[in-house]
Amino acid sequence: MTQTVYTFGGGVKTDDPRAKDKTITGGKGANLTEMSEIGLPVPPGFTITTEECVRYLNEGADFSDDLRAQVREALGHIEATVGKTLGDASDPLLVSVRSGARVSMPGMMDTVLNLGLNDATVAGLAATSGDERFAWDSYRRFIQMYSDVVLGIDHGLFEEALEIAKEDKGLYADTEMEADDWKELVAEYKSIAEEELGRPFPQDVTEQLWGAIKAVFDSWDSDRAKVYRRLNDIPGDWGTAVNVQAMVFGNMGDSSATGVAFTRDPATGEKAYYGEWLVNAQGEDVVAGIRTPQYLTKAAREAANAKPLSMEEAMPEAYAQLADVFELLEKHYCDMQDIEFTVQQGKLWMLQTRSGKRTAKAALKMAVDMAGEGLIDEKTAILRVDPMALDQLLHPTLDPEAKRDVLTSGLPASPGAASGKIVLDADTAENWVARGEKVILVRVETSPEDIHGMHAAQGILTARGGMTSHAAVVARGMGRCCVSGASAVSIDMKARTLKIGSRDLKEGDTLTLDGGNGQVMAGEVATIEPELAGDFGVLMEWADRHRRMKVRTNAETPADCQMARQFGAEGIGLCRTEHMFFDAARISAVRQMILAEDEKGRREALAKLLPEQRADFKSIFEVMAGLPCTIRLLDPPLHEFLPHGDAEFEELANVTGYGVDHLKRRAGELHEFNPMLGHRGCRLGITFPEIYEMQARAIFEAACEVAKESGEPVVPEVMIPLVATGRELELLKALVDRVAQEVFADTACEVEYLVGTMIELPRAALMAGEIAEHAMFFSFGTNDLTQTTLGVSRDDSARFLAPYVDKGIFARDPFVSLDIEGVGQLVQMAAERGRATRGDIKLGICGEHGGDPASIQFCEETGLDYVSASPYRVPIARLAAAQAALR
Ligand code: PEP
Ligand code: MG
Repeated sequence: MTQTVYTFGGGVKTDDPRAKDKTITGGKGANLTEMSEIGLPVPPGFTITTEECVRYLNEGADFSDDLRAQVREALGHIEATVGKTLGDASDPLLVSVRSGARVSMPGMMDTVLNLGLNDATVAGLAATSGDERFAWDSYRRFIQMYSDVVLGIDHGLFEEALEIAKEDKGLYADTEMEADDWKELVAEYKSIAEEELGRPFPQDVTEQLWGAIKAVFDSWDSDRAKVYRRLNDIPGDWGTAVNVQAMVFGNMGDSSATGVAFTRDPATGEKAYYGEWLVNAQGEDVVAGIRTPQYLTKAAREAANAKPLSMEEAMPEAYAQLADVFELLEKHYCDMQDIEFTVQQGKLWMLQTRSGKRTAKAALKMAVDMAGEGLIDEKTAILRVDPMALDQLLHPTLDPEAKRDVLTSGLPASPGAASGKIVLDADTAENWVARGEKVILVRVETSPEDIHGMHAAQGILTARGGMTSHAAVVARGMGRCCVSGASAVSIDMKARTLKIGSRDLKEGDTLTLDGGNGQVMAGEVATIEPELAGDFGVLMEWADRHRRMKVRTNAETPADCQMARQFGAEGIGLCRTEHMFFDAARISAVRQMILAEDEKGRREALAKLLPEQRADFKSIFEVMAGLPCTIRLLDPPLHEFLPHGDAEFEELANVTGYGVDHLKRRAGELHEFNPMLGHRGCRLGITFPEIYEMQARAIFEAACEVAKESGEPVVPEVMIPLVATGRELELLKALVDRVAQEVFADTACEVEYLVGTMIELPRAALMAGEIAEHAMFFSFGTNDLTQTTLGVSRDDSARFLAPYVDKGIFARDPFVSLDIEGVGQLVQMAAERGRATRGDIKLGICGEHGGDPASIQFCEETGLDYVSASPYRVPIARLAAAQAALR
């Protein structure tokens, strides 16, 4: 017989570790047990385990005799401790029945209070409490709650009846109702219940108890609990425990009260008690907002300029006791606690404690402060802060107090918040910004040609595209807020108008984006600026001490590189050179190169691009000052650079001297049906080696110049994209080596360099052993590797992946968090095979997953040397890498 019921309170102590194991007795049950064992005043009670819940839900059967026997015995413990009996008409015990899962799921599951009241016991309660009004108020609360939670009767019916009763009597507040008024209402409530139920409201207290236990178990599978679990990655097979506990009453007159409190301020992290309380009230009155709660401390009341007395002032003795409890609990749990308490006729009772939820800012401050106070050590402090929460600190965010007129939601592609006037193309964005406007660039999707507009804009909204779409990747890189894949957005470019859902808008109307949750709002919503307080720097320094992997950045402009260095990047993991091709000053030379009929024509155009690229690389090497820089040679299919629309073709005709028809024919020839799997990556270098030659020359010339000028070493890492075979890399490495030797001879200067490849194709992972013969490093391009392994287009997935996550096919969007089971196997295999060929091969990741904490954990376990993330994700990666190393 396994023990499925554990008692607590009344001096009980247990050696059974299961009693304090949250997976068995739930968070609430385990903490109630601990609190009572350290001597805090906890009303006696018992917990039915989560295992029993799982068994009940799976087998759907009735409760076992064994469970009934254990519950009966545990109830005896409460009765003996309190000296009252459940159902005793002269002096009844009342109990609460509450849920309590392994982690807190606030408000998601059910609670029943005041259980044990019926037509007989209500009189006993009135007699023993000496307060008839209190007894009948408790009874009507119980009928309403039990009817709602256990019997499934619409609680609106009861609320309505209460409102009518007050109206008939000319009363305004519940507190004005007298004992007889409540008595009448109880009669009314019972007839409502009977009408809805077809039988009388249950009077048998044992039936009441089992009904409530069953309802709490059932509430684990309620729709709202399921939704909450999905949003918070909580497994459905955990189940909830049930806690049955003697009632204490905060509504027994003016020496009674109830409240919730935090041992530190959960918004700021300040070491100051923070909380709310109400005189003469039950817990749900505070939470439900029926009455406005009062401040807990005098300081908080004064700061808010509020009149009603704080608990510190109104109940100094109970408050002093509570403050002692705060100190004790923080020391015991070594963390900020979120506490529920009740004062019954001057006596303090603890109803709950748990680690309190907190903002990112507070999490940071508390971790650093607590380490300073010696409450926790440095490692615990590092592990305590959710890396993703740092995001909140690095970007402006919307004022949580501000009103929102939400039009639709898309994917939260890049965090932060932005308001501005709608513009529908990149040039307009740039022009309007030049005249001093703030703009939001709204596009069906973005392409590299929109970069200047994206840079000018405060934020970017796209109707199509997933979390690794062009818009998302570039926006994260720039630190621009971006909402992508908002399919309710439709744009009419001719009329320069758009529809978002049912709302008609036009260019120039104001829009606000929340990159944190993907919301799109009409009008301007106030924002608050990020504050990189000292605590941030301190925690980052600690993290750096404990991590093994290096953290680099994905960046291609000097400004982004500078920003990434400020955030702590230790090199560039991916410089996407194609972004440099889209610069307005270069695009026509690029187009000329693409449209050239032969190699000679291409070389002429490339000669124009060489000095520009060299200048790009020079400024990057200068900013990175000796840190390693991985520069990737051209990757996207050439047609991405081609003109769109007649005006652009005409402009190009003027520049090149070719006729528009000729240019259009050439463009047509370059059209591909499936460009992602087409003429891109190293295939460009194989077919048009002169392009890679120019880029390699620009890299080495820049490196030599900077090395000469600065006297510091410059170590370029030349990276070849989309390699599938060893032979591809062998040919292209030979090309790079030849150009390097030419440049070294010409400039009489030599720099160290590496040549390596991205692993972006399943074949590359399989053949990593052979590829490593020519590669000094591998960088896992997990955006493409995910796309090619799953056969899912990274730019189209947003339209259909959400249901995949909802249905549990993928735990998370595989373009956001690495599919470790699948794609991860290829990464592991390639790492092993690469190392087997070349023991000192350098291994890194530069897909978007390099900034995702769960994926970073995997990279640590796989033994990668570094992760590379967009500049704003660098601090997240630093912290996540430290946590991964510590775990
Ligand atoms: C990748 O594929 O993971 C990668 C980093 O390259 P890109 O996103 O530029 O295709
Ligand atoms: Mg790629």
